[in-house]
Amino acid sequence: MERIVIAGGGLAAARTCEQLRSKGYEGELVMLCAEPHPPYDRPPLTKAALVEQDHDPTLPTDYAKLSVDVRLGVSATSLDPASRTVRTTDGELSYDALVIATGASPVRLPGPGRQLTVRTLDDAARLRAELKPGQRVVLVGASWISAEVATAALRHGCSVTCVEAGPAPLAAALGPTVGARFLPWWAEVDLRLDAGVAEVTETGVRLAGGEHVDADVVVVGVGVRPDTAWLEGSGVDVERGVLVDEHLRASQPGVHALGDVAVRWSPRWNGRLRVEHWDDAREAARVVAAVLLHDPSGDTPPPVHDPVPYFWSDQFGHKIQYVGHHGPDDTVVVRDGGERWAAAWLAADGRLTAHLSVDSPRQMVDARMAIEAGARPDEAALRDLSAKLAPP
Ligand code: FAD
Repeated sequence: MERIVIAGGGLAAARTCEQLRSKGYEGELVMLCAEPHPPYDRPPLTKAALVEQDHDPTLPTDYAKLSVDVRLGVSATSLDPASRTVRTTDGELSYDALVIATGASPVRLPGPGRQLTVRTLDDAARLRAELKPGQRVVLVGASWISAEVATAALRHGCSVTCVEAGPAPLAAALGPTVGARFLPWWAEVDLRLDAGVAEVTETGVRLAGGEHVDADVVVVGVGVRPDTAWLEGSGVDVERGVLVDEHLRASQPGVHALGDVAVRWSPRWNGRLRVEHWDDAREAARVVAAVLLHDPSGDTPPPVHDPVPYFWSDQFGHKIQYVGHHGPDDTVVVRDGGERWAAAWLAADGRLTAHLSVDSPRQMVDARMAIEAGARPDEAALRDLSAKLAPP
């Protein structure tokens, strides 16, 4: 293979370069990076970068040493898989293999007012400059992103309001029962639940019921959409993201995808997953590189990317860690242990599908092993936080 082109300039792209070189790939490697910055870590953007003036989340990858042709400020604009050509804002580029790692962009709300989102380094710098004592910050959506922004805004002495369409914080991700357990953490936030935002105005947000909430800063955290518009008409199958198999191969020959932009087939969960988490993007890079360099004439099958998903969030002085993947019909079990608590999800057949722990990395590790092993813990016993998450 003479030239691999990576469309995207985030964690997945940087790690793919590292992995390809560490596995012995010696051909040309071109990385198209829409942003003016080389790849950086996004998790700190709503954590340290909103609090510390000089926080630099740039990834330590040495592109010169790895001989990567990094093209900053260059976007992929369209794709012709038949001729293996990607068009960019800086001309055409042929490839032997293409890796799609374009990530996702925040959903925006209607209305003429200024709305901030936090996806990029520049977004974080813009928001940090606004977080001053007494500023009225309105967050739209009580999401992971909003919880972390609320934490930073309160630390800067802002007055924080959060407007959430659901019945509890994080209810969209975790359901109302678990979401309600977070309510005490939001005590210093004017949290308006079951309230939709109709539009962002010049002076705040107008709620669906007509009420206006005044704001100096409006931050929208209502989810992201994968960056796939440039693939329109290419023949690459896209459905809420680039569809890939368990080897991260897209529907067109020579095209692969990973990270936030990919929807992968998971044999473990017998379904398609779009996992928008740091850990997944990082680990998938190892597999995509191995698949790209895999010899189809050999005896070994191509490697599979199908880990138990994992993510964390740091909010209101706590660390939340979630492992697994729960479905809408799974039974949720809240696990109590005095001041501490956790939550587990069980499938209809009793299998542990997901676990959320608070300030307890040990529980997260145990839960991950139990999920990997297909454990079927006793539901009643599980309600006690001290119960061991033993394999079956
Ligand atoms: P991205 O990091 O989005 O990188 C994609 C890059 O491709 C971007 O730079 C984009 O500009 C570029 N691009 C887009 N279109 C094109 C194009 N056409 N041509 C060229 N380049 C293009 N996960 C956790 O597990 N825990 C956390 O605490 C956590 N916190 C987060 C906080 C924030 C604020 C954000 C935004 C994300 C957080 N995540 C967290 C998620 C995690 O950062 C992502 O899952 C991860 O960044 C995905 O990496 P990626 O490389 O797939 O996509």
